[in-house]
Amino acid sequence: MIIAVDGPTASGKGTIAKQLAAHFGLPCLDTGLLYRAVGWQVSANDGDHDSEADAVAACAFPDELLENPELRSEEAGGRASRVSVHPGVRKALFERQRAFAEQPGGAVLDGRDIGTVIAPDADVKLFITASVQERARRRWLEMTGREIEIPLAEIEKDIVARDARDINRKDAPLKAAPDAMVIDTTAFDKDQAFEAVLEAVRDHLAQNP
Ligand code: C5P
Repeated sequence: MIIAVDGPTASGKGTIAKQLAAHFGLPCLDTGLLYRAVGWQVSANDGDHDSEADAVAACAFPDELLENPELRSEEAGGRASRVSVHPGVRKALFERQRAFAEQPGGAVLDGRDIGTVIAPDADVKLFITASVQERARRRWLEMTGREIEIPLAEIEKDIVARDARDINRKDAPLKAAPDAMVIDTTAFDKDQAFEAVLEAVRDHLAQNP
């Protein structure tokens, strides 16, 4: 069974993907991490994130880079969003994601274009969303918890900019697949969000055995 979990930045899709993977006993791939690694490698190569050639060259990043905790930073997210607009980068990362999706037994993948491009054949497609204000609030709480001081308004501005880049890029823009179940978690805490998701997934699987 392939489960595709897409959605905008800080929507909670990563947490939901991991919870689903644990629930169904499936491996999970955070595809955003691949784009973050490419963005990071461009900087390590002294390249330009807006140059497609530099970004494609950085797709040959060493696997150990995926273990670097700095990839989780806001800075790495911003670089990822810049390199992800290049079609050459998306093409270079396609096979790796597709192979993960196709492994025997299935997998959960989370990202922006899993249900539309990487696994249009997924058995379950989810699009997790929440308001900009709520996503900014969650990110702010998470960062404050890690003792990173950053004004809420700055996070909100960054989320709006990243959404715009992800939605408006020509190649594989962020959008729900026509057959995706859209779940808005604005009014939910983490447990409620997972409950809503699990109920939707169970209903879907019961109707599509
Ligand atoms: O999900 P995460 O915030 O880690 O993703 C970082 C950036 O990578 C996103 O803002 C998006 O631009 C890009 N991305 C993408 N396609 C994916 C996953 C992430 O374009 N499947």
